[in-house]
Amino acid sequence: MTNPSASEQLRQSLSLYSTLSRTSTHFTPAEDSAVRMYVCGPTVYSAPHIGNMRTYLFADIARRVLGFAGYSVQAAMNITDVGHLTSDADSGDDKMAKAAAAERATAWEVAEKYTEIFLADAGRLNILPMDLVLRATQHIPQQIALIQRLEDKGVVYRTNDGMYFDTSFVPDYGKLTPNDTREHLRAGERVAMGEKRHATDFALWKFSPPEAPKRDMEWPSPWGVGFPGWHIECSAMAMEYLGESLDLHLGGIDHIPVHHTNEIAQSETATGVPFSRWWMHGAFLTLEGERRMGKSEGNKITLDTLVEEGFDPLEFRYLVLLSHYRSPLSFSPTALEQAANALRRLRHRVAAWKKSVGAGAELPDCPDSPYLTRFVEALAEDLNMPRAVAELWQLARDPDVDDATKLSLILAFDEVLGLDLESASKEPAEIPDAVVRLAQERWELRSAKQFEESDKLRAQILAAGYNVQDGPEGYELVPL
Ligand code: AMP
Ligand code: ZN
Repeated sequence: MTNPSASEQLRQSLSLYSTLSRTSTHFTPAEDSAVRMYVCGPTVYSAPHIGNMRTYLFADIARRVLGFAGYSVQAAMNITDVGHLTSDADSGDDKMAKAAAAERATAWEVAEKYTEIFLADAGRLNILPMDLVLRATQHIPQQIALIQRLEDKGVVYRTNDGMYFDTSFVPDYGKLTPNDTREHLRAGERVAMGEKRHATDFALWKFSPPEAPKRDMEWPSPWGVGFPGWHIECSAMAMEYLGESLDLHLGGIDHIPVHHTNEIAQSETATGVPFSRWWMHGAFLTLEGERRMGKSEGNKITLDTLVEEGFDPLEFRYLVLLSHYRSPLSFSPTALEQAANALRRLRHRVAAWKKSVGAGAELPDCPDSPYLTRFVEALAEDLNMPRAVAELWQLARDPDVDDATKLSLILAFDEVLGLDLESASKEPAEIPDAVVRLAQERWELRSAKQFEESDKLRAQILAAGYNVQDGPEGYELVPL
């Protein structure tokens, strides 16, 4: 980012919504030196679906926006490779063990395979690599130490299947959920109680069942051989690397009532300080309007599926940018198709500007511009990416801004959008300059409602062997 005043504007105005405070407030990190950010990562028992990836794209945007504001960001993500049971409430099978049995592999092999697939998908979506990727199985001592710390506080008890956190010791347990659902949480309808004292109590350490076959993943502990519960990993690893109080903790909305509620309860009981200053949650990607896409809902679509159908992963990234992260994203092939067309049009334009500026030409530093100001305003509005994309298109279409300025600004915008516009010139190389110019002129005439003139240019473009297709965000040149 080569425009310090835009960074400054963003630092001064960045407002982020926190599920905990239920309001958007001006974001400042606890220490100026770095923003400490933790993202709850995948459970690696199967390939991620595009709903999961929406959540990680949201986290990536948050991280890029903080970078655009000039902060240095330390970002950590966990890989849940042990301890996540099929029910979030400590009952059911271990997801990893179940997948291992189905795939005739060890839980370790399953974890390795799906961790790699996840990281590869994240790369294809231009998600910046995390500074720290933390596997739960590699942090067993830290988790045991945190459980011991809780034990010292007297909030841990033993049942026949594990060591549990007694949530009745936490006066504000459930504070992440709205008041009216807190009682509901405590009532814990349909939650298997077993020997738990309260429905909301949760496992910190589970014992390996004595009668079952030996588990692939188990460790000795002061309480017996077993494995950590799902929630303790995030608290233990976040504290180990980022400190006891984070700036930002992110995940999907399904983490609010159980996983993050329990992370807060155990972390704050252990340390006495707020675990994170902002808690941000991404809404779901849904199918057919309202059905959540889920690994266990039987309706998952993976990035590979989209690629097999001919889509570029960044076209999915573009689609994700068109919905605010706190609104559901209703996925459909038509919506993806439209996003793909829009991104193609944008790339054509970038390629045309590059040609007009000249291949080796030095671009001006990202200049001050009302478009840059408005782009930053959009980011500052709790990451309003749909508005940021709209501002980009306004700029792209403005006949009064020269190509070099457009290019310089839009490549700066792309530091946040992550659409790899820098390499856009490769794609439409086969469309001759003259045709691209004609199409641009035609679009400008058309935007100025000079239809007679613009139709003349369309005829010339057709004569050159190209059709122009107009859409809400611009045009696309298609060879005849
Ligand atoms: P999991 O691997 O099941 O632990 O989920 C990984 C992440 O994906 C979590 O942050 C979930 O909140 C998120 N997630 C799961 N389903 C969806 C969905 N349909 N849309 C968006 N995010 C989702
Ligand atoms: Zn977590």
